[in-house]
Amino acid sequence: MAAIPFIPGIPPFWIVLLNNIGLAALVAMGLVLLTGVGGLTSFGQAAFCGFGAYTTAVLTTAYGVSPWLTLPLSLLVSGIAAVLLGIITVRLSGHYLPLGTIAWGIGLFYLFSKLEFLGRNDGISGIPPLSIGNFRMLDPGTIYFAIWIGVLVSALLTMNLLDSRTGRAIRALRRGHIAGEAFGVQTPRAKLLVFVYAAVLAGLSGWLYAHFQRAANPTPFGAHAGIEYLFIAVVGGAGYVWGAVLGAGIVVILKEILQSYLPYVFGGQSQLETIVFGILLVVLLQLAPTGVWPWLTARLPLKPARKEPDTSLPLAKRERAPASAGTLLQIEKARKQFGGVIAVNDVSFDVQAREIVALIGPNGAGKSTTFNLITGVLTTTGGTISVLGHKVDNAPPQEVVKLGVARTFQHVKLVPDMTVLENVAIGAHLRGSSGAISSMFRLDRADEAKLLAEAARQIERVGLGDQIDQLAGSLSLGQQRIVEIARALCVDPLLLLLDEPAAGLRHMEKQRLAALLRQLRDGGMSVLLVEHDMGFVMDLADRVVVLDFGTKIAEGTPAAIKTNPDVIKAYLGATA
Ligand code: ADP
Ligand code: MG
Repeated sequence: MAAIPFIPGIPPFWIVLLNNIGLAALVAMGLVLLTGVGGLTSFGQAAFCGFGAYTTAVLTTAYGVSPWLTLPLSLLVSGIAAVLLGIITVRLSGHYLPLGTIAWGIGLFYLFSKLEFLGRNDGISGIPPLSIGNFRMLDPGTIYFAIWIGVLVSALLTMNLLDSRTGRAIRALRRGHIAGEAFGVQTPRAKLLVFVYAAVLAGLSGWLYAHFQRAANPTPFGAHAGIEYLFIAVVGGAGYVWGAVLGAGIVVILKEILQSYLPYVFGGQSQLETIVFGILLVVLLQLAPTGVWPWLTARLPLKPARKEPDTSLPLAKRERAPASAGTLLQIEKARKQFGGVIAVNDVSFDVQAREIVALIGPNGAGKSTTFNLITGVLTTTGGTISVLGHKVDNAPPQEVVKLGVARTFQHVKLVPDMTVLENVAIGAHLRGSSGAISSMFRLDRADEAKLLAEAARQIERVGLGDQIDQLAGSLSLGQQRIVEIARALCVDPLLLLLDEPAAGLRHMEKQRLAALLRQLRDGGMSVLLVEHDMGFVMDLADRVVVLDFGTKIAEGTPAAIKTNPDVIKAYLGATA
């Protein structure tokens, strides 16, 4: 408990402030996960504090339920409210999501202040204090311990969650849904999870608040408070668990100082502190745009503990249907229209087992769109695509990857502030099974060690062993493409789809990549690759398919393609 900011003999005024900091930190911690890590902005978190506070207020005052019994119920009510609101809200995209949270934030505030059994605007008073035996937490100095134990336990559970299979899926949300889904992450479920998690932390804060104030009224649960919680998370460093605590400290203390001293300076002008407060926060964000916590830790001589996965740990192979008749991928008259643009125009080709097929063509020929049709990112307008005899033309990405199809992206989709190891481990998502609860309580460690071991093996395999601990965003773009290959290999795929893997690589690196792909093919994998470097393609591919304006214009061995007049006209001539 050394981390509890407790100094004996501390004046009561500061104890109250510390309590307020702890309560705000709990809500902000949820926002760290929701907004900072998951990328879902919510202005409505204060409403969930309201659910927590009112649940215990009603149950203890009207029904005489013991305060400790109301704790799980308060968390449950906040969680259920979050499931209901979350199902509607997290589907919203872009600016509609924060707007949606403002809407229900305001709506719930009016609901709290209008309901008779919640005491309308006056709220509910006479809430009993928390007590353990004869120890009644009547004053700020005693409930202080309950609040800060709540903060510490929540911080611990949150950090455990983030450092796990589920945590990586959550952290991948911020880069959009496509990358995670390509490896089996159920994005809507992950979003709902963080939404509920954040609401339960806010509910805990509300429950503690009700027993601290011994009363609950609508004011602290309105949209204004919701905005302030978001402020706290951003100032502290959205994305950092301790940033929530630091941000709460900064904002609560700053407000207090301004409220107490500004009237002396400016002679009792009201509202002035709000303006000065706003200006100071903007200045703070100018100095530390990603928040004060990362700004601070970057200046301290702290070295993050290096993860050394035990690469001897085996990870079970994925169970899947055996290859039928040697044809892995069959594309028949696949078609994709975007309005008037026919991006893929009745294209047919196949990929056999142990084969490297290159898909080439000028920019805009429809190569990436073809990849997106195969992997379920886009649905087809017509035609059929089957993997191992299973039709996948309208299957979601999470189902396609289960058949053993893994991919990389032309525009790299890694999480830049996650390490290479963590990014690659997302590829093994379907080969683990630990969920959120077991991760929070560290019951996932055996599963986790195997996933990380597999990720480390694939990183070694692609030759990036030295970079395993670096943040993915710090690597060159060429290396990031190689990281994506390692991530795809973690799927244990039968078919690897690579969209311009050699772009940005130096000559030696291209040769290494070609050697790796040959080795993978000889080991039983098939590769379908899009690439513009003709020397690389013609040297490596067993077969080449040429697209031009969405239409297949040629198919054959590299030697035949090189001399095909249509191809020379459409493509090779253009680059020569
Ligand atoms: P390539 O990968 O061969 O360079 P793409 O498959 O990315 O080509 O694009 C093929 C065509 O489809 C282009 O004309 C492109 O503008 C269009 N296109 C691709 N994706 C979309 C989309 N989501 N919406 C509209 N048009 C698209
Ligand atoms: Mg492309």
